[in-house]
Amino acid sequence: MTKIDHIGVAVHELEPAVKFFQDNLRLELKEIKELPERGLKIAFFQVGDTLLELLAPLSDDSQISKFLARKGEGIHHIAFTTPDIEAHMAELTEKGVRMATPEASIGAEGFPIAFLHPKATHGVLTELIEKK
Ligand code: ZN
Repeated sequence: MTKIDHIGVAVHELEPAVKFFQDNLRLELKEIKELPERGLKIAFFQVGDTLLELLAPLSDDSQISKFLARKGEGIHHIAFTTPDIEAHMAELTEKGVRMATPEASIGAEGFPIAFLHPKATHGVLTELIEKK
């Protein structure tokens, strides 16, 4: 069954945002990690079966810098589980659904991920994640 794996929220600065969610929503911090190749510093909170992922830029050319400049802080993407990412992507491509990433890559959690283009998904950047 498909689940929402995580919801990604873009923030300008990680530490104050982490503290806000810890202190005010009593969320349990799972981990903080840096992904220099994507220019990102991220924090995961465990919220039931779903993670809340805070994404902050490490540099001006990070993967979320354009988003932050255009839209400011806010919900950046929603990630849904898929049993077989390659088969799922092939199916989407065949149907003409626009992908934001042409190939799957390994995401912050260590699982294969791919993004559907927000123009194809009613305005929501949508991630597929294959969790074994
Ligand atoms: Zn994500």
